[in-house]
Amino acid sequence: MDPAQIVNRVPEGEVPKLRLEHITYRYSIGTPFEKRALDDVSLDIRRGRVTGLIGHTGSGKSTLVQLLNGLSKPETGRVLLDGEDIWREPKEIGKIRFRVGLVMQYPEYQLFEETVRADIAFGPKNMKLSDEEIKTRVSEAAAFAGVAEELLDKSPFDLSGGQKRRVAIAGVMAMRPEVLVLDEPAAGLDPQGRHAIFTGIREYNRLTGSTVLIVSHSMEDMAQYCDDVVVMSHAKILMAGTRDQVFARAEELEAVGLDIPLITRMTLLLIRGGMPLPSGIYTLEAAEEALSVAFGLPPVPPDKEDEGKGGTRSW
Ligand code: ADP
Repeated sequence: MDPAQIVNRVPEGEVPKLRLEHITYRYSIGTPFEKRALDDVSLDIRRGRVTGLIGHTGSGKSTLVQLLNGLSKPETGRVLLDGEDIWREPKEIGKIRFRVGLVMQYPEYQLFEETVRADIAFGPKNMKLSDEEIKTRVSEAAAFAGVAEELLDKSPFDLSGGQKRRVAIAGVMAMRPEVLVLDEPAAGLDPQGRHAIFTGIREYNRLTGSTVLIVSHSMEDMAQYCDDVVVMSHAKILMAGTRDQVFARAEELEAVGLDIPLITRMTLLLIRGGMPLPSGIYTLEAAEEALSVAFGLPPVPPDKEDEGKGGTRSW
């Protein structure tokens, strides 16, 4: 296809980890309930990065992610993994599910083994790995997902909701997929639980180099945890690019009714009020720096409490 039609196209010479080419997908075809969930979508997901997929409910996010590991098949168009059509050998589609690991919404409802350990080991066992390898994978995945060692021999049904969610995520991480796709991994969790899940996912990306795609409806989370952002609207890609590129278009995001981060909204208000600030600010640190410059103040020294922790500064 014409590369110019790809959204978020990778730089020349780089093969995208995943490429969608002219994907269309409809539900209930030929009935009065027919619904076009994806309409000629073309998109690159860049290798080794954490990409956030955001959009209103019903914009097509879940439909899109279910095409990435062959759980469903595009009506038209192709899904390329490392440049190869995942449906080239339909009988081999099962292998794609080990390479692209999908954590569905509310995955904790799919736990069923007697112990947490057995649940996390389920995927690696299906891959017919040795017992030794399975053991390594379980400990590694439990650590990434924040499942404490002492929970491994408990029944998953004795855990809290947040802990169950982590076990389910660890179960997919244990397969060491090249691409980890998570559909609303933090849905329903409190801020601390959200932070723990996202930090674990980022750590998994950093240490394994795998490509990660996170579906979320929270712009705050996208701003904090993703390198690239893809915005969907009405079965199409509205915009996509690096976090900086997407938030530079914050006013367009606002115009389609997406909840941009509070700090972005505040800086946009100040800009409209005449303050000379750059648009597209999405972190407190960047806002603090821009305001210091605007007021001609010396740079703000790092907050003692946060020094070395990489935490978000309060002001
Ligand atoms: P999102 O994940 O962004 O909320 P979805 O991919 O779930 O969006 O849905 C896209 C559109 O497809 C919506 O209009 C939704 O109602 C419709 N849809 C999703 N799943 C089904 C289904 N199983 N049957 C019929 N329509 C569906």
